[in-house]
This record gives sequence, C-alpha cells and structure tokens, in this order.
Amino acid sequence: MSGSIDDVRALETTWTTGRIIEKELPTPSTVRLRMHVEDRHRHRPGQHYLIRLRAPDDYTAQRSYSIASDEDDPLVEFLVERLPDGEVSEFLSDVAEVGDVLEMRGPIGRWFTWDTTTPALCLVGGTGVVPAVAMARTARRLDRGSLLRVVATARSPRELPYAEELARAGATLAWTRTDTDQRPAGPPTADELAPLLVGAEVVFVCGSARFAAYAEDLLLGCGVAPGAIRVERFGPTG
Ligand SMILES: Cc1cc2nc3c(=O)[nH]c(=O)nc-3n(C[C@H](O)[C@H](O)[C@H](O)COP(=O)(O)OP(=O)(O)OC[C@H]3O[C@@H](n4cnc5c(N)ncnc54)[C@H](O)[C@@H]3O)c2cc1C
Repeated sequence: MSGSIDDVRALETTWTTGRIIEKELPTPSTVRLRMHVEDRHRHRPGQHYLIRLRAPDDYTAQRSYSIASDEDDPLVEFLVERLPDGEVSEFLSDVAEVGDVLEMRGPIGRWFTWDTTTPALCLVGGTGVVPAVAMARTARRLDRGSLLRVVATARSPRELPYAEELARAGATLAWTRTDTDQRPAGPPTADELAPLLVGAEVVFVCGSARFAAYAEDLLLGCGVAPGAIRVERFGPTG
C-alpha cells in the first residue's frame, strides 16, 4: 500500500478472505477482532466490510462491520457487539477463534467517509463509535486532530467501546445513566454540541436507529444544514 489517502478511489470490491490474528472480549458483550485481509485495498475512515459466514451445506449469512483501524495498521480491526441470538455476531463472539479464515468483502462505502481535510464532527452512540475511532486514529497519524471532534455517548463508560482511547484523544463523552463530576447523566445536549459545531462542515452520526433519530433532531435543532449530516444506522442488514 502506498500513496496518500487521497488516492483512495471508488473501487469494485470482490470477495476475499481474512484470517483472525487477534481476538479479545473487551466487555462481556463485545468482541474485538484484528484480521489479516488477503489482497487488501486501502480504506478511508468510515468504511466497512461485509463478513460472510458459510455453513457446511453452503447456507450463508453476511453482515456489515465498520473498520476501527487506521489504514496504516497492518491488520484490519473490527468491534462487534454480541446480540442475543444474533446469527453472525454470536458466532464471531463465541465460536470464531484465532487462525480462523472468514470470507470478507470491502472496503465499502463512499458517502460515510471522512476525507481527512474537511473539519468534521462525529456524534456517535454505543457500537456506533467504531467508525469514529477509525477517523480519530487517522487524524492522530496525520496530526489533523484539530479537524475532527468526537462526541460519543453510551449508558456508562463500561458500555462505550474505546472510551479511554477517545478520552485521550479529547473526545466529549456523555453517559446517559451515569453522573460524573463533569456532567449529570443524560444524552448530549444542544449546549454541549454548539461550541463543537463551530467550523464543522460535515457531521457523521452513527449508532442504532433510535440514537440516529435523536442525534439528527439535535443537530437540526442546533441549526446544522440537513445536507451536512451523514447518518449510518447499525440496524439489521440481512
Ligand atoms: C454499515 C454498517 C456497519 C455496521 N458496523 C457494525 C459494527 O462495527 N459493529 C457492530 O457490532 N455492528 C455493526 N453493524 C450491525 C451488523 O451489521 C449486524 O446487523 C449486527 O451484528 C447483528 O447481526 P447478527 O447476525 O448478529 O444479528 P441478526 O441475526 O441479524 O439479528 C438478531 C436480532 O437482533 C436484531 N438486530 C440486528 N441488528 C441489530 C443491531 N445492530 N442492533 C440491535 N439489534 C439488532 C434483529 O432484528 C434480530 O431481532 C453495522 C451495520 C451496518 C449497516
């Protein structure tokens, strides 16, 4: 891989394979996988891969997973929330092991990507933090942290993947069910967002459908133009 991130172009991806090199369970309900992807293409922060599982009878199930890693990372990192009875997430969490090879296709997604030069804000909730982590890691490598602000929310610090890393990067963290010395429990407010929106030309919203609806209303209430808001919902993908 060579050249700058600006060299990344729309490309037709094909199925390839990825080997699990590292597997961790950072919390009881999440699994972090770091994978070596064959014939890997450069990616932009915000993009995702499809991961496809195949049963012996050739039945397949595929789901989208956002990339958490910077593209300079030799491995591609994913953070998956284990959903009860979730066909793919439960397998990745409970069954998949280091050394296993999975079918993958990516990187996918052009619209929900940060170009690394436009001032941006990420407003993300729960596992929706993953693409914001990739953006923050890329910003750090390029020394462009001043261009990217991150507001991340979850019920408590334990339920926000990458909370410590984001705090070190200067993100605003809002706990909806946990009071702290800095703020009472509750979702991010318009007053908190207003100073962070100054100068931001694009806002990335990512999380559950419920979170995305809240975030969009909040941003519109803050006067953000609808065309500046890009939303990714982590709903069922089939
Ligand atoms: C672009 C994109 C990127 C994504 N990135 C990530 C990521 O980085 N990490 C991650 O954990 N997930 C991510 N997702 C969600 C992921 O694709 C799957 O939907 C999720 O893992 C559930 O799949 P499953 O097979 O385990 O559950 P399924 O067997 O599909 O569903 C099991 C049950 O859970 C419900 N359900 C399905 N998906 C969700 C969900 N996301 N939240 C709550 N309930 C759900 C279903 O309606 C069903 O009742 C992303 C989705 C999209 C569209």
